[in-house]
Amino acid sequence: MAKVADCTYNSCVRENLLLELAKMIPRRKTRQINVGGVLIGGNAPVSIQSMTSTYTYDIDATVAQIRALAKAGCDIVRVAVPEKRDTDALPAILDQSPVPIVADVHFHFERALEAVEAGVHKIRLNPGNIQDRKQVDRVIAACRDRGIPIRVGVNEGSVVERKDKQLRAAQQSDLQVDRRTHLIRLMVEILEDYMRIFDDNKFHDVVISAKSIDAGMVIDAYRAISERFDLPLHLGVTHAGPPETGRIRSIAALGSLLSMGVGDTIRISYAADPVFEVDDGKELLCSLGMRNRLEPELIACPTCGRIEIDLIKLTADVKKKLVGIKTPVKVAIMGCVVNGPGEAEGADVAIFAGKGKGIIYVQGEQTCTVSEDDMLEALHREVVAFAQRVERGEVQLGQRDVTITPPDPLPRKDGTIPLPTIRN
Ligand code: SF4
Repeated sequence: MAKVADCTYNSCVRENLLLELAKMIPRRKTRQINVGGVLIGGNAPVSIQSMTSTYTYDIDATVAQIRALAKAGCDIVRVAVPEKRDTDALPAILDQSPVPIVADVHFHFERALEAVEAGVHKIRLNPGNIQDRKQVDRVIAACRDRGIPIRVGVNEGSVVERKDKQLRAAQQSDLQVDRRTHLIRLMVEILEDYMRIFDDNKFHDVVISAKSIDAGMVIDAYRAISERFDLPLHLGVTHAGPPETGRIRSIAALGSLLSMGVGDTIRISYAADPVFEVDDGKELLCSLGMRNRLEPELIACPTCGRIEIDLIKLTADVKKKLVGIKTPVKVAIMGCVVNGPGEAEGADVAIFAGKGKGIIYVQGEQTCTVSEDDMLEALHREVVAFAQRVERGEVQLGQRDVTITPPDPLPRKDGTIPLPTIRN
């Protein structure tokens, strides 16, 4: 048998490695808080957060977006409350929201008190943005009375002193020597100042964050604060940009931290529809073995010079077609019968395409050969049928570890490609 080059993409192997990694890496122990029934920290699963992009006073639009986020898998949704009309809308929003709501307060302590009164499940504020300490104490007291946690955070862009010119000059001279180290030191010091306020008020239901636009900085900052505090950590990259670039920054930073056992709740933030944030957050946690999949998982080869069908279009079409199936069937779409079978090991339903045709396998059993035109419908049919068998308890997901030996890649004399043989 001719030796063929290994396919460069092996998602199964990668995923198994990540799962093993996730099992091996202990989560850093933190205090636990309760946000409207969703636990954050301690041994609670890492939760996914997002934020609405609507005007909160527009109740219908905000509720519609909260529902879309919850449907996508978001555990907690934050809404901005810059104005009184926003906090006025909170009771109606809370009545209709399927998930806990966080009120994001910026400068006005009154908005925090109104949000607490409305019954929100968490407040996000920075004590440094509220000038009068007594006002901060009032917000903390109100949250304590209602058992509402508070998130406080620091951002790279706001840690350097702005008002005290002498202090600012000293900090900037430090930053010129070693920007990252000094920024992280400032972040930790500001969080320490905030924590003193909470300690003075005997308030401990606090989540902290330390964001930056730079993935490496985010990793170092969170590592530093995780060593300094035992509080639950809200992970995020600030102003990450559109999904095309923000995705790389966010996954690099959050994936690294979660792999180290650091992080209790995440928000991936994009300049786009926030549902994308939730989709990617969910995929990140599933890939790290930190969240169970609730829907099919798609594996597809990246295509190469051996490809003989329009696999990229087929993959996009299959992805859309599988929406709504609530069983985490592993589905593989492979562009050839040469390397494809090896790459699709572990898939419950797989198609191997070649010369305008596709061979479909269900847990290692060849079920049919279809033309390129019929691939989408046939694959969908097989996935649905397999999912129903799983739901009826007739088969288990990933039950059969199938080894498929690739055939000789050279076509036979009549031009056909030999079918792969299967070993169970
Ligand atoms: S067509 Fe796809 S499965 Fe086959 S060798 Fe190329 S990348 Fe791998």
